[in-house]
Amino acid sequence: MTLTGELLIGGTSVPATAGTMKALNPATGELIEPEFAFGGAAEVDRAVRLADEAFDSYSHTGPAERAAFLDLIADRLDAVKEELAERASLETGLPAAQFESETVKSAEQFRKFAIVVRQGRFLQATIDPAQPDRRPAPRMDHRMQKVALGPVVIFGASNFPISYSVAGGDTASALAAGCPVVLKAHNAHPGTSELAGRVIQQAVTDAGLHQGVFSLVRGAGNEIGEALVDHPLVRAVTFTGSQGGGMALYHRAQRRPDPIPVFAEMTSVNPTFVLPAALAAHGAEIGAGFGRLALYTVGQMCLKPAILLAIEGPGFDDLRDAAMAEVRKVAARTMLTPGIHDSYVRNVGRMEDSGATRIGAGPDPIREWDGQSLLYEVTGEQVLAEPALREEVFGPSILLVRLTDLEQLFQVARAFRGQLSATMHIEELDHADAARLLPILERRTGRIVVNAFSIPQEVSYATVHGGPFPATSDSRFTSVGMSAIERFLRPVTYQEFPDGLLPESLREANPWGLWRLVDGELARD
Ligand code: NAP
Repeated sequence: MTLTGELLIGGTSVPATAGTMKALNPATGELIEPEFAFGGAAEVDRAVRLADEAFDSYSHTGPAERAAFLDLIADRLDAVKEELAERASLETGLPAAQFESETVKSAEQFRKFAIVVRQGRFLQATIDPAQPDRRPAPRMDHRMQKVALGPVVIFGASNFPISYSVAGGDTASALAAGCPVVLKAHNAHPGTSELAGRVIQQAVTDAGLHQGVFSLVRGAGNEIGEALVDHPLVRAVTFTGSQGGGMALYHRAQRRPDPIPVFAEMTSVNPTFVLPAALAAHGAEIGAGFGRLALYTVGQMCLKPAILLAIEGPGFDDLRDAAMAEVRKVAARTMLTPGIHDSYVRNVGRMEDSGATRIGAGPDPIREWDGQSLLYEVTGEQVLAEPALREEVFGPSILLVRLTDLEQLFQVARAFRGQLSATMHIEELDHADAARLLPILERRTGRIVVNAFSIPQEVSYATVHGGPFPATSDSRFTSVGMSAIERFLRPVTYQEFPDGLLPESLREANPWGLWRLVDGELARD
């Protein structure tokens, strides 16, 4: 596929109207061809208007047609996986092999959402038939299903340029819900974005859908994102990135004359608690496993386990030494963007200013934007006294917390704000303490992991990738997994409708063969 650097607005390719940029290879510092177009408010308006025009027909596609479209995107992604991986590697400095598997995973997400669409459970078709003879008052016929919200704006994430970006889970779940998508491409990987965008654009055409089902825009600075969030025809926004960026967009959306939801996934330190019996039995193993995962992909993951907490006692030194050995082993590698590197250096400085002691470091950085692997240690008392020590440092650093006793462990657990995940390492002897820790973690996170690490991310029916603020802006939803579709739906009741006017999901004959809640009981006839 030839990269042209243009914006993709509906079925057309649109040249720059507001300047251009080139991608940066952060490993070499070189700029990469071609020039990529920036657009402005006029391109946003065109893309959103097209999405709005596409909405009525696209949101009413039946399960077979919509699922076939999602499957088509999946097949086309598979077909360009080497090309996507090569470009993503150039634009991130990370190995191409990582991106081939990321593309396969992205394709798999589209296929899984195709299954969700065919099953139709997300519609939550519900029928409360009329009861004309009910006393004292008869009941009218009430039927309910979920409908798509409308055009959705998706901000592509920087850290997973395929599976959390243009062809990521947000796009797959919004399209599955029946919402046209206007994608704000991240400037860290413009070529990867264009390749994935062209795959979806072509699939829209080949599936015979309205061209406004998908557009991709790009811009310089905040203006384009602001124009997207402000556009009166946009019905929801998804975002993955910094807390500052996510909350700026969230507040902006709430200030609109008609506020709209912003599903922002922002920040998490994913604390790992090692309980005493597990520490004594497996301290070294846990320290090494934790270290490996925390440093994977230069620590640039939302699920990076960043804070390791254990009570001083048997096994603590093994835990510490094993984590230290990992940190010393992992060479400094280039970070995704100069900006992410600079904020890593700044945040490490903030940890040091807050009293964290550096106890281990990997080999020195060689290139300008290399992130050095670092291990810090603090006491439980310090973590309790200094909120900055409980904040995310996006990059390859680990904070080890030396606790005095179980009561301090519970106290520190209570001090954490909302998280995407938390992990407990336990043996049978720890179960009673784990049962006390559990409700503390349930209040603070969307995922609790036992004796494992929450990576790799599983995209499945039971996956929750969300959590209380500041992990996300809305803890009721997940941004990964099949339930991610729920962000883009709202319920509508159809009261006393003639059968022929009802949506297919609610007709007496059940033409789509859905499981429906009929008078409070699940039924399929
Ligand atoms: P970011 O700076 O929050 O930007 C994400 C996207 O939102 C970009 O497209 C950006 O556009 C746009 N944006 C940000 N603030 C905006 C505003 N006020 N108005 C309009 N648009 C806005 O995130 P990033 O560039 O991916 O990385 C920066 C930092 O975010 C990292 O150092 C890390 O701390 C954090 N991060 C966290 C996660 C996580 O999963 N926890 C993932 C990625 C990043 P422009 O690029 O055009 O400004």
